[in-house]
Amino acid sequence: MTRNDWTKEEILAIYNKPLMELLYEAATVHRIHHDPNKVQVSTLLSIKTGGCPEDCGYCPQAARYHTDIEGNDLMSVSQVKAQALRAKSSGSSRVCMGAAWRNVKDGKEFDNVLEMVRTINKLDMEVCCTLGMVTENQAKRLAEAGLYAYNHNLDSSEEYYKEVISTRGYQDRLDTISNVRKSKVTVCSGGIIGMGESLEDRAGMLVALATLNPQPESTPINALVPVEGTPLEEQQKISIWEMLRMIATTRIVMPETQVRLSAGRTDMSREGQAMCFFAGANSIFAGDKLLTTPNPNVDDDMEMFKLLGLKPQKAFEKKSQPQSVSAEESKYKHLGEKPKWSRPGHTIERNVEAKAKSKTKV
Ligand code: SF4
Repeated sequence: MTRNDWTKEEILAIYNKPLMELLYEAATVHRIHHDPNKVQVSTLLSIKTGGCPEDCGYCPQAARYHTDIEGNDLMSVSQVKAQALRAKSSGSSRVCMGAAWRNVKDGKEFDNVLEMVRTINKLDMEVCCTLGMVTENQAKRLAEAGLYAYNHNLDSSEEYYKEVISTRGYQDRLDTISNVRKSKVTVCSGGIIGMGESLEDRAGMLVALATLNPQPESTPINALVPVEGTPLEEQQKISIWEMLRMIATTRIVMPETQVRLSAGRTDMSREGQAMCFFAGANSIFAGDKLLTTPNPNVDDDMEMFKLLGLKPQKAFEKKSQPQSVSAEESKYKHLGEKPKWSRPGHTIERNVEAKAKSKTKV
């Protein structure tokens, strides 16, 4: 049975078990709730890159850090359709569209995103969006267009989150997830390890996710990919052992969730990834870019699947395809809402330094 009352102490005790015991327990839970030979494959598509006003310390898309990424305006519906078809033909069952926005704003751009959702849904693929904070009405409009999942990561524990981001609060994240829950869209929420957080913070993040009721249908576990110019550029990369423990612990406390082995796979060997699948990871991102950071290429992944006897999960195996309502038949209006998402605005030294450094660059 899925529990929603996990404590930090219980989760730390699981995380710190002797590794063989931890892996055995996680693999056992995994087999009860999932086919261990199936892995869900998603393609992440950056539909609007860079120029983001937020200050997330790990993110090269934050305008203030002036990293080397090339920004672009919102892609067109036809460009997105072409990319989705390519993703489908290479084995992906889901397209996740990411826009570097603080929050969704009602208007032309959001209308275009809704059209992208309808278009991909018609290709019989699962559609996910990650667009920043959303209101309940916006979540319902996405649901009505045929959105399958909405991603909004908690990133870390509530305590450590304050060391990474100052332009929005943890509660905004929880409120966004709660708004998505009021629609029929499934929730995708996870976080990043390797940002300098303690083991207590990792456990704290899992408490926040596992005590959501219901738990997220999908949880990405990312390893920080330190990018030059960002405040976390000098962070040490985490070891495979930490990733393995995090995946296994997530699997045990969130038994029904699809646990996604996300950013950081380029630094993992096939053996390391195989251990993560054994420990309960059953989702990956395919394609050589994860928004802006590198990812293994899809042919290498398919070769790995063959080697390990893994099969890509088909679309809508876990939940049926949402119906998609056309813009003309929509029963929701755009309300032109101007929600007051918070701006804590506390000082994070390394974020301030990275911003100052970027200004001195020629
Ligand atoms: S993680 Fe998202 S919200 Fe934060 S800076 Fe990057 S694009 Fe903006």
